[in-house]
Amino acid sequence: MAKALADGLDVETSCQVRACTRDAGGWALSLSTGATTGPFDYIVIAAPAEQAADLLLPIAPALAREAQAARTSPCWATMLAFSSPIRVDFEAARVSDSSPLAWVAAMKGNSGAYSCWVLHAKPDWSEENIEQSAEWVADRLARAFASITHIDVQPVHASAHRWRYAQVQVSAGTPFGWNEDLGIGVCGDWRLGPRIELAWQSGDALGSEIARRNLR
Ligand SMILES: Cc1cc2nc3c(=O)[nH]c(=O)nc-3n(C[C@H](O)[C@H](O)[C@H](O)COP(=O)(O)OP(=O)(O)OC[C@H]3O[C@@H](n4cnc5c(N)ncnc54)[C@H](O)[C@@H]3O)c2cc1C
Repeated sequence: MAKALADGLDVETSCQVRACTRDAGGWALSLSTGATTGPFDYIVIAAPAEQAADLLLPIAPALAREAQAARTSPCWATMLAFSSPIRVDFEAARVSDSSPLAWVAAMKGNSGAYSCWVLHAKPDWSEENIEQSAEWVADRLARAFASITHIDVQPVHASAHRWRYAQVQVSAGTPFGWNEDLGIGVCGDWRLGPRIELAWQSGDALGSEIARRNLR
């Protein structure tokens, strides 16, 4: 979706913005590549709250405080692949007992068989084990999966990915932040809550606001 929306636009990916600075010409961005890009009339920071706060602190303290007040919890996610379908009587589940798992779901393979599963760990467990290796986490979550499904089949593939800023726990409560004098906007799911549609609504509201001001 994002690729299609960006069609025809000048977008640079896989590039971290280290700092934003402003002079009479407008905003300039210092990039992790060592390059500087700009000048821009406006900047929009659409990063998770914790990362947005780091960028905002030197340039827009009030917006930075809003980002600092938001809270995001991490999520260790794991994918398991089995060489043949495993026999369980559900395709997805929320796990409410003391298991490290919060949620599991089967993914339909090309053959139509359920041979791949995605597992999400609970926020507390993810936080406690945030610095563990991906291999350690994949092993623990695979064992937790075996425990809730009562299966005794080894996966042929298990890999874990750490999402450090996964789920908004405390949001800013307004769709976006905006400083007209500086020409800085902030948006993202952390403005409204932990859903992709709320991230969309936040960006859409900020984009509409900037467009409205430019049309005046
Ligand atoms: C494992 C997992 C499963 C999820 N499942 C669901 C689901 O089923 N349904 C649902 O509705 N939501 C789900 N979510 C939540 C959903 O993904 C988020 O709500 C949504 O992606 C937030 O969008 P965003 O644009 O605000 O931020 P993000 O998607 O986090 O995008 C922010 C981007 O900013 C980049 N960035 C940060 N700092 C900088 C910097 N300094 N310079 C340049 N770039 C930077 C990041 O790399 C990132 O690409 C899930 C999230 C995770 C982690």
